[in-house]
Amino acid sequence: MIKRLRISITGRVQGVGFRPAVCRIARSLELSGIVYNDTKGVTVELQGEAEKIAGFLARLQSDADKPPLAVITSCDAVDIPVIESEAEFVIETSDSHGAPLSQVTADIATCRDCLAEMADKEDFRYGYPFINCTNCGPRYSIVKTIPYDRPNTTMSVFEMCDRCAAQYTDVQDRRFHAQPVACGNCGPQIRLTDSTGKTITTQTEKVITEAARLLLAGKIVAIKGIGGFHLAVDALNSRAVERLRRRKKRDHKPFAMMTASIEQIKEYAIVNGAAGRLLSNPQSPIVLLPKKPDSPIAPSVAEDVDTYGFLLCYAQLYYLLFARNIKVLVMTSGNISDEPLICKNEKALERLCGVADAYLMHDREIYRQVDDSILHFVDEQPAFLRRARGYVPTPILMKKSCRQDIFAVGADLKNTFCFAKQNQLICSEHIGDLEDAEVYHHYIDSIEHLRGLFEVEPKIVACDLHPGYLSTQYAFSIPDVKIIQIQHHWAHIASVLVEHGLEGPVIGLAADGTGYGTDGAIWGCECLIASLEKFERFSHLSYYSLAGGDKASKEAVRPALSLLRKAYGSKFSLEKFDWLFERIEPDKSRLQMISEQLEKGVNCVETSSLGRVFDAVAAMLGLGSYNHFDAQLPMALEAIIESSVEERYDFELINTAEKPLQLDLGKMIRQIIDDIQNDRPPAAISAKFHNTIAAALLEMAKAARESTKLSTVALSGGVFCNRYLINLLVNLLKQNDFVILFNRNVPSNDGGISPGQAAVAAHLVSRETVSSTPSE
Ligand SMILES: [Zn+2]
Ligand SMILES: [Zn+2]
Repeated sequence: MIKRLRISITGRVQGVGFRPAVCRIARSLELSGIVYNDTKGVTVELQGEAEKIAGFLARLQSDADKPPLAVITSCDAVDIPVIESEAEFVIETSDSHGAPLSQVTADIATCRDCLAEMADKEDFRYGYPFINCTNCGPRYSIVKTIPYDRPNTTMSVFEMCDRCAAQYTDVQDRRFHAQPVACGNCGPQIRLTDSTGKTITTQTEKVITEAARLLLAGKIVAIKGIGGFHLAVDALNSRAVERLRRRKKRDHKPFAMMTASIEQIKEYAIVNGAAGRLLSNPQSPIVLLPKKPDSPIAPSVAEDVDTYGFLLCYAQLYYLLFARNIKVLVMTSGNISDEPLICKNEKALERLCGVADAYLMHDREIYRQVDDSILHFVDEQPAFLRRARGYVPTPILMKKSCRQDIFAVGADLKNTFCFAKQNQLICSEHIGDLEDAEVYHHYIDSIEHLRGLFEVEPKIVACDLHPGYLSTQYAFSIPDVKIIQIQHHWAHIASVLVEHGLEGPVIGLAADGTGYGTDGAIWGCECLIASLEKFERFSHLSYYSLAGGDKASKEAVRPALSLLRKAYGSKFSLEKFDWLFERIEPDKSRLQMISEQLEKGVNCVETSSLGRVFDAVAAMLGLGSYNHFDAQLPMALEAIIESSVEERYDFELINTAEKPLQLDLGKMIRQIIDDIQNDRPPAAISAKFHNTIAAALLEMAKAARESTKLSTVALSGGVFCNRYLINLLVNLLKQNDFVILFNRNVPSNDGGISPGQAAVAAHLVSRETVSSTPSE
């Protein structure tokens, strides 16, 4: 019997080669009909024998036939009348069924099929560095505007040759409508230049051979990839790595490394099954992995941390290089200190002058720079530290649709911004720290670009409470919009809620560096009873003073001095701690000055920051006294933990009538001082300190549960990038029968603030719309 079905498919089904796949399967089963994109996903009308239609549905969801990047979240079919005259299956390519959800997908690592073709001497793309297809290649980084068609990408300057054009227009082909399709005859080309930009060679084979020779000789080569330039150097060559550090003005921050295979990574780091899968997924992120003892990697690649960041080759160019005897390369972003990633050839020659010894460039323009994404493992599941290439602009889906478009500006550090449209949260890639003028300009440009790509017209703008944030000031400069200000740690907890499709309330534990509080203090260790609707501050670390504003997040002497004064009260004197401050702030007059500032309360702010407590303890243990990059001291403290130590220090939860419950760490500070004076090894003290913080957070959650009867805990905030702490806390919470939620799809650091802001704003706006509707 012949029947006709209309099948509505949602999920990640646009821009991933879904319609051609549907067409191929339907034609191979001799079914007729049509497939088109619409505002919800893809719709298929399918006509033929019932048995064959059933076969179609099975094949569409099978790994063999489903496009690799497609994710089907729902598939609903209804019977409709048969169309007698219909003979074949066609793809409707116009947007006559409404604008697609999102036309632009993320940049994806070279797929297996393309790699096989590139290695095949008979193939006309043999050895071609820009081979790609519907299932792989650049997308987001090359799109200028929508609709996502070749003329609107940076591929527009390359006219397709006949062979490429034939594949591009053949619905049966893997390259049907793959916008960046190209070959050696018609597409982008590579070239190698010396440090001044003078071309050494443009012949592909020679470029690769010579670049590999330079790298193996210890030279620094700037390589233009998918999302921008990397600075590459042989990771086994200490002198070369140190030279890169000096030239890049990046004194301490660990470098990421690239290899061509997981087997190679296993020479240097511990890779379990889950980490292996994450490394080789099509998004190809950097994954933090435990260092192997006695690894031959140059020590200066990643000092004072216990992990290496590794990623696999994700563009064809890298495979060609690694085929020339290269084992492992440092691949760090091509920029100077904290400036935005460089993506233009001319800019690279100008800004990396004096850093790179040679440039491996190509003539496919990168329109948007996108950094590599970084993930680690929390409770054996992948969690983001930085969400960018491979993941952006893939939307994060919300349970409910919002009625109005929303723009969330994010926070000032590790900034991302976010749009909410219908049921999608469209998060930007990692932008950076807005205080850098170039990063700020990049932020403004990026907002306009992403807004255009997704056709968002926000009249609601969500921002932080902090009046001094550049992002807040930017929000207030936008004309004709309604502003919703959202407290920093509420946004952190909301980011967890929205990811898990919840509205709350939950017990929210925010462990963080800094966030402006509703009382004007700088909050950071907070137990909130939070929902998307509102939050209440249930308990927090008791306030201590920080002198000197922004300097306090860099100079550990400031929190150390303040915490000691608080812990010892009238028994504190600078003389008594002479021995300790020698290692933290040897300049006596400076120390005196900060001490007086604290005493008189000049330029001081009250804080419950947990991040600064980590800084102080790291400094007391002699691990350094300055954060050259964010969380340097806490990372050094984490790296030395002697994990067999299960002891902890004492702390108190203090209950007073007029204030939220207070966590007091005075006893812990005094016991740490005793341990240092009794020559306990720093590794043991660090373990005891981490164990104490985890136990204190658990007690805060338990007190909240007792009072509210809630038993779900959401964890977020920058301090939870500390793997030891979050994994220990998750275990403790499990043992105490809590339901635990943490960030999986956005970072728990300030990179996750913007989706949290957007989620709260979306909720508040929808509620307003409901309540303003006249009752019947
Ligand atoms: Zn491919
Ligand atoms: Zn071609």
